[in-house]
Amino acid sequence: MREIVQGRVFLPGDDGFEQAAAPWAVGVRQPVVAVAEVADAADVVALVRYAHRAGLTVTAQPSGHGASGDVDGVILLRTARLDEIAVDPAERVARVGAGARWGQVLAATGKHGLTGLAGSSPAVSVAGFVAGGGISWFGRAHGWAADSVRAFEIVGAEGEQVRVTASSDADLFWALRGGGGDYAVITAVELNLYEVPQLYGGRIVWPATRTGEVFEAYRAITADAPRGLSVWLNRMAAPPPAPATVGIDVTYLGEAAEAEDLLASLAAIGGSLSDSRGPMDVADLGAIAAEPVDPSPMLARTELLTGLPVDVLADTDLAPLLNLQIRHLGGALAEARPDGGPGGALAEPYLLYLLGLRLPHLAEAVQGKQAALVAHLGEAVSGRKPYTFLAPGESATQAFPAETVARLARIKQDRDPRGVVRANFPITG
Ligand SMILES: Cc1cc2nc3c(=O)[nH]c(=O)nc-3n(C[C@H](O)[C@H](O)[C@H](O)COP(=O)(O)OP(=O)(O)OC[C@H]3O[C@@H](n4cnc5c(N)ncnc54)[C@H](O)[C@@H]3O)c2cc1C
Repeated sequence: MREIVQGRVFLPGDDGFEQAAAPWAVGVRQPVVAVAEVADAADVVALVRYAHRAGLTVTAQPSGHGASGDVDGVILLRTARLDEIAVDPAERVARVGAGARWGQVLAATGKHGLTGLAGSSPAVSVAGFVAGGGISWFGRAHGWAADSVRAFEIVGAEGEQVRVTASSDADLFWALRGGGGDYAVITAVELNLYEVPQLYGGRIVWPATRTGEVFEAYRAITADAPRGLSVWLNRMAAPPPAPATVGIDVTYLGEAAEAEDLLASLAAIGGSLSDSRGPMDVADLGAIAAEPVDPSPMLARTELLTGLPVDVLADTDLAPLLNLQIRHLGGALAEARPDGGPGGALAEPYLLYLLGLRLPHLAEAVQGKQAALVAHLGEAVSGRKPYTFLAPGESATQAFPAETVARLARIKQDRDPRGVVRANFPITG
C-alpha cells in the first residue's frame, strides 16, 4: 500500500501506528488494519481502488470527533491534510478541502463579512459535519448545514473522481447532504456563504442557585425567538470544589442593541459570575461554547425533545455528568425543503446533550445517569437523533424516518454494493 500513495501509511507494528489510529474521541478503540495519511485526492483514488481490488473497506476520518469504533478490519483514511480553502466573496461560495476545520474556514470567510453554517466546535471538519447534516449556530436562520452545500467533489467506490451537484446526480447529491459518509469519500465541498454585517454572541454564567430563574427566562425567550437568535442553556457541574453553574450561550445575527432587547429577561436575573456577550467576529464563533479542542474522553448522549420539561431538566442532580445542555432548534430547521437532504424537517424544538467522561472508572455511571434522565423525561424524548450527534453503539436508523433510511440504503446498494466505503454509522436499512 505504501508504494501507491504520496502520504504516509502506518501498518500494525509500525512505530506510530497506535497513535495514528487513535481517534480524537479518547477511549474509543479503533481496530483498523492500516492508517493512510493522504496527501491529496490522487491518494484517495489510489487507496479506494486498492481497497476495491483487495475486497477491503476504507473509512474517511480526518480527526475522529465522531468515532464510533465500527472500524474492525478497515483502512482509515486520515484526510486532515486536504485542508485547502478558497473563498469567492462575490459568488458567496467557499471551496474547502475535506480536511479543513470550521475554525479555519470561518477565519477565511469572516474577513469578507461572510459565514458558513458552523456548529459549536472550531475543530470538527466541514466535510464530516455536512456529511451528517450539521446543526449550526445559524440553523434556525438557514437550516441544515448540508443543505447549503452546492457541490461535493468525491471519489466513488470504484475510485472514480466526480463533482456531484443537484443536476449532475440528484440521488447521490441528496444522500451526501447529510446521509452520513457511506456513499463515497468526499475530497472537497463547495459551501454557500451568508452575509453577516453584525454578529452578537457570547456566554453568561450564574451560580447554580439561579437555575430556576434562568430556565424560566430561557423558556420565555425561546417561545418566540426570531430566527437569527440561537440560545443554548448549560447546567455545568464541575467537580467540587468548583461551584456548579448555569449559563446561557447565545448568537444573534444582528445588532447588539436588538439582541440585548430580546435577552432583557437575562439581564434582570442579576448576580452573574461572568458575561462575555457582545459584538463579535465570525472567526471567534467556535470560542463561545468553550469546548475542548484537544482529544478528549467525552461521553455524550443526545436526544431531541418535543418540549421543555423544566422540572426534570432543572432539578435533577447531574453527578457524574459534567454538563446538561439544551439547544434551541426550530426556525428553518423545522421546515421541509423540497431541495433538501435526508435530514428533512426537524420538528423537535430542543436538543438535549448530556455530557460525561469516558474514563474506565466513570463510563458506566455516566451512561447509567444519562439513561435514567432520559427515562425520566418520558414522552418529551422523541427518539430521533441528529446523525452528527450519534454516539458509539447507536445506529444511523435512529437519525431518519424509515422511508429515508430505505432510500439511503438503496443508494448505498446501487453506488457501493461491495461496501468499499464505510461511514462511522453505516446505513444498514
Ligand atoms: C466538541 C464537539 C462539538 C460538536 N458540535 C456539533 C455541532 O454544533 N453541530 C453538529 O451537528 N455536530 C457537532 N458535533 C458532532 C460533529 O459534527 C460530528 O462528530 C462530525 O461527524 C465530526 O466530523 P469530523 O470529520 O471532525 O470527525 P471524524 O470522526 O473524523 O469524522 C466523522 C465521520 O464523518 C464522515 N466523514 C468525515 N470526512 C469524510 C470524508 N472526507 N468523506 C466521507 N465521509 C467523511 C465519516 O463517516 C467519519 O466517520 C460536535 C462534536 C464534538 C466532538
